[in-house]
Amino acid sequence: MAAQEKTALGQQANEKKGWLRAHKWLILRRISQLSILALFLAGPLFGVWIVTGNMASSLTLDILPLSDPYVMLQALMSGNLPVMEGLIGVVIVLAFYLLIGGRVYCSWMCPVNIVTDAAAWTRRKLGLKVSSPFSRNTRYWLLGLTLILPPITGAIVWELFNPVSLMFRGIIFGMGWAWMVIIAIFMFDVFISQRGWCGHLCPVGAFYSLLGTKSLLRVSASRRDQCDDCNDCFVICPEPKVIRPALKGADKGIGPLIDEMNCTNCGRCIDICDEDVFSFSSRFKS
Ligand code: SF4
Ligand code: SF4
Repeated sequence: MAAQEKTALGQQANEKKGWLRAHKWLILRRISQLSILALFLAGPLFGVWIVTGNMASSLTLDILPLSDPYVMLQALMSGNLPVMEGLIGVVIVLAFYLLIGGRVYCSWMCPVNIVTDAAAWTRRKLGLKVSSPFSRNTRYWLLGLTLILPPITGAIVWELFNPVSLMFRGIIFGMGWAWMVIIAIFMFDVFISQRGWCGHLCPVGAFYSLLGTKSLLRVSASRRDQCDDCNDCFVICPEPKVIRPALKGADKGIGPLIDEMNCTNCGRCIDICDEDVFSFSSRFKS
């Protein structure tokens, strides 16, 4: 289709699909993130213990154990052997993310994502054009570092600093110095590095992106012939590099599937496209 005159980000989608449909996946993600926090808060606040534990290791309805494989790996590397319930929890969580995409953890579960999305929104509203002084591969080097430290120190060192754990513990038990970390990440993303924390530095996101390398659930630019080059998907996407091959690669014989481990399956490209170019799909379909 012919390129259209540039409008404000998301304006075309709001006008054509309506605000609700143009924010569907964002709303569902926020419900998911806040519901998880609410489930953990219900115990300490109201005595309703549906879930006990924390995001690293929990038990739902006294039956379902869930354990974070990244934390478990660090524990193993520090010389601590997990109990059977922890191992079962890891297997369940691994199966879930291997199937639906590792970075679904980022966009649908992680509370820090709410902060970094808010930072991206603020930066756009302020019209700040900041790139990043860091390569997007820095997160994989940091991931390596967090796995080297446990055998050296005998401790899960990263969990002392991990903003995901700090924010989660802060919301449940009181923020304390977690505020400082969260504000620092927000300011860093607004003023120093576009999508700096989640897109360049966070080793948790790096670990989960590796888990999702072969996941079944994918976004596809299945109607890419309808693209009007408004660019909104590139602006809204937390990992914009993952879009181009699928959206613009038809001439080079590249299929429309976004087959990239860093796609977070956040669905914002689906929301914001007024031409309905994108949709959720599977790796066996385009
Ligand atoms: S990259 Fe890290 S902080 Fe960002 S959403 Fe993913 S796990 Fe959370
Ligand atoms: S390609 Fe779409 S689903 Fe994937 S990260 Fe970007 S906006 Fe989210």
